[in-house]
Amino acid sequence: MLYWVEEALREEEIEVPIVNMTEVLARQMLKDPELQRLLPCHCDQCLDDVLAMALNHLPPRYAATDEGQVYVQVEYLRPQLRSDVLRELTQAALRVSRQPHHPPRGPGQSASDPASEEGEGGSRT
Ligand SMILES: [Zn+2]
Repeated sequence: MLYWVEEALREEEIEVPIVNMTEVLARQMLKDPELQRLLPCHCDQCLDDVLAMALNHLPPRYAATDEGQVYVQVEYLRPQLRSDVLRELTQAALRVSRQPHHPPRGPGQSASDPASEEGEGGSRT
């Protein structure tokens, strides 16, 4: 079953003149098992939720990609950026795990009303 490999390779062929390094880094770090452990669900929707939520709190860092991924890889090494991304990904993962985009799967789950929960605002200290 190599279907997903073909998909990934096809995506790699897309040429993008500039890339948001924060997004690239966040996507990579989102695969970290430690982060995924925070999430009850690993479907694309929940992972995209975490990614979007984290990126909304992070400044984009665009870079030209003449040298391909090499230039971007150098930026990965910046510990400051890594820790910022990790912090936002962790917070986003915790929020998504509390309020998943879709109802929980599996039998025996009682449906709670997600709309009645206050989600935005109110920063915790
Ligand atoms: Zn999900």
